[in-house]
This record gives sequence, C-alpha cells and structure tokens, in this order.
Amino acid sequence: MHAATILAQLDHVTDPSTGGLVPSIHPGVTHARPGSAIAAGYARSGNSGAALVESILCQLEKGAAAAAFGAGAAAAQAVLASLQPGDRVLVDTGLYYEFGRMIWAFAERFGLDMVRVDLCDLEGVARSMGVAATRLVWAECPSNPLWRVPDLAALAALAHRHGARLLVDATAATPVHCRPLTLGADLVLHSATKYLNGHGDVVAGALVAAAEDAWWREMLTAREMHGSILPPFEAWLLLRGMRSLALRMERVSATAQTLAGWLARHPRVGKVHYPGLPQHPQHELACRQFRDGFGGMLSFELGDAAEAIDLCARARIFRRSTSLGSPESLIEHRRSTEGERSDCPPGLVRLSVGLEHPDDLLADLAEMLCPAGRP
Ligand code: PLP
Repeated sequence: MHAATILAQLDHVTDPSTGGLVPSIHPGVTHARPGSAIAAGYARSGNSGAALVESILCQLEKGAAAAAFGAGAAAAQAVLASLQPGDRVLVDTGLYYEFGRMIWAFAERFGLDMVRVDLCDLEGVARSMGVAATRLVWAECPSNPLWRVPDLAALAALAHRHGARLLVDATAATPVHCRPLTLGADLVLHSATKYLNGHGDVVAGALVAAAEDAWWREMLTAREMHGSILPPFEAWLLLRGMRSLALRMERVSATAQTLAGWLARHPRVGKVHYPGLPQHPQHELACRQFRDGFGGMLSFELGDAAEAIDLCARARIFRRSTSLGSPESLIEHRRSTEGERSDCPPGLVRLSVGLEHPDDLLADLAEMLCPAGRP
C-alpha cells in the first residue's frame, strides 16, 4: 500500500469503543488487570496514541519496531543511553548543530569515544573504522543545514563489515522521500516536531528499528526510565498532522525545487544547497536514494553575515524564525541561530519551505534580494 493511503486513513483506524474513524485519546495512567493477569499497563511504558504512531511509522519505514518520544532530542537521548562507556561513535561533521552539541556533552560526561567524520567521504569513513572498533555511525540524511546526502547503502555495508550499526536521522527527508532501513540502516530517528506533524504545534520524536533485538530493548528501557514517551494528547495531535504528510511533502518538495532553481540563477546568490539541483555534489546519489522529491529544506549563501541578516529582515511572507516542517515558510540566518561556535558559512540563509503558493514565496524572495528603490 502507498504511504499516502496508510497516512490518510491512519492505517484504516476505527476507534473500538465508538466505531469512529478518528482515534480516541486515552489519558489513563494505569489500567485494570484482566482476570488473573499480573501485568498492568502503566502509562510511562505506552499509550494507545503512541502505539498507533509507532505502528504507522513501522509500516512506512519497513521497520520491525518503533518507539514514539516526547521530542526528537528524547529519542536521541535513548540512543545515547543504550551505549556503554568507551563505545566508539562516528558522527557526521555536518550533523544538526544542537545534536552535535548534545552528543558531545554526553560523550564527555559518560566516556564515549566520539569521532567527527565527513560521512560523505566513504574512504575517510573506512580509514576511521580501521583505527578502532566502532559501535555506531550517526548520520543525517539530508544533513542540516547544508543538505548533504551520505550514501546510506554504502555506509550501512561499511558499518556492518566492521561490526557497527548505522543510525540515520531522516527528519528532513521523512519516509515519504527516503527509507533508510530499506537501504540497510539499523535505526531511523525522526524529530516528529517537524514534517511528520507538520503544523508547528507539537514537540515529538521517534525511533524505528530494523530489528527488535537486545540493543532495541535498551532504548525502550531508556524511554521508560527517562519518562520520555510521547504523551496521549501530543500523540493525538501528531496523528492528525500525519494524515496529510504525503500531500504536504509533495507540495513543499515541488516548491523548494522551484525556489532552488530560481535562486541558483540569481546574480546576487552564491552557492545554493539543495539535493534536487543537478549541481549539488550528491545529486545523482540523491536521485537514487530519494523518491518523489527532495524535501522542503534548502539553503543559499550571500556574501557575508551582514548581507544575510539584512535579507532575512526584509522577509514579508517567509516568517523569520527557526525550525522546519511547519505550514508557514521560515527563513533564518543560520549562524546566528547556532551561536558563536557554529562552523556554518557566515552568509548562509536557511529556508523551510511551507505550504503557501510558490508564486508568493518567489515574489518575497525577489523583493528581499532586490528591494524596490535599491540598485
Ligand atoms: N533532528 C533534526 C535534523 C532537527 O532539525 C531537530 C530539531 O531541529 C532535531 C533532530 C531535534 O528534534 P526535537 O526538536 O523534536 O527535539
């Protein structure tokens, strides 16, 4: 069945108590023990809304098991908690900035051996794996904010040859465009706060695993111990948002492709970072690895930070704000958001393309780049 069909019907959902075609919210913390059963469901381990999110994500990603969390960051924490002191982890140099910081802080405190590697350079990855036993490779596809595309099938093969696992943060791609488990990855991470929900009103996260093994059980235990399960009300909102995911991704990808092409031809714009552009360094790979589009995130470079900040300040339709995957298009000077230690190009402007009419977004960009009355 196509993703659009699974999503639109929330897997043919029927509420068992009412027959309604919308799931009910079940906020109960604890549940009656049926008959002589010893176990009783306690809400820190699961709820019906989180379970439905998990079942749909499993189907979309072709996974064996999924776990829904109260944030993408909480999902990442569960992965970190599943590791042992001394474990070696290869982390992409282009990783989402906050995750880079969080992983590093965790590694320092709990004795993980973190190594930063450009995961688009397979020879470099192979060399780094040859140095010492590696437990995990942490990739992002496409990586935020330069939207680089690592070769997931090659990375998975390399990781497995060295006894390591491959995690892919596929937040920006979503299962509509890319399914890392089908390419050999072991674990997919999502910030469901972004496109999966798509309405800018829920913080949520998820992990989807290729196998329900001992490592997976460690992550579930971490979720239970951290109390980081996706709560029932947030799960309900997320499910409502997920119904339109396929349609939204179709729209944002088409608009982003148009905007990226237009920006690439604009004389004031330097590099444009979008995997859908033929000049993107991993475009051919992206064509093989993505389906039905390349997502709604793109970045472009101006001469320096002052120019980029000045441009963002002139936005009228794009909202000047951080995050991604919301209905409204967002624009930001990325380096200011990341802070002093950012190694993001100083003139980089990041766009999260929303659901507005593409002509209005183009007109806004045109006005930002060449304000009326200015040469
Ligand atoms: N992964 C990526 C690629 C992100 O962009 C973000 C947040 O911006 C996260 C993970 C963190 O997710 P959350 O904000 O839901 O904790």
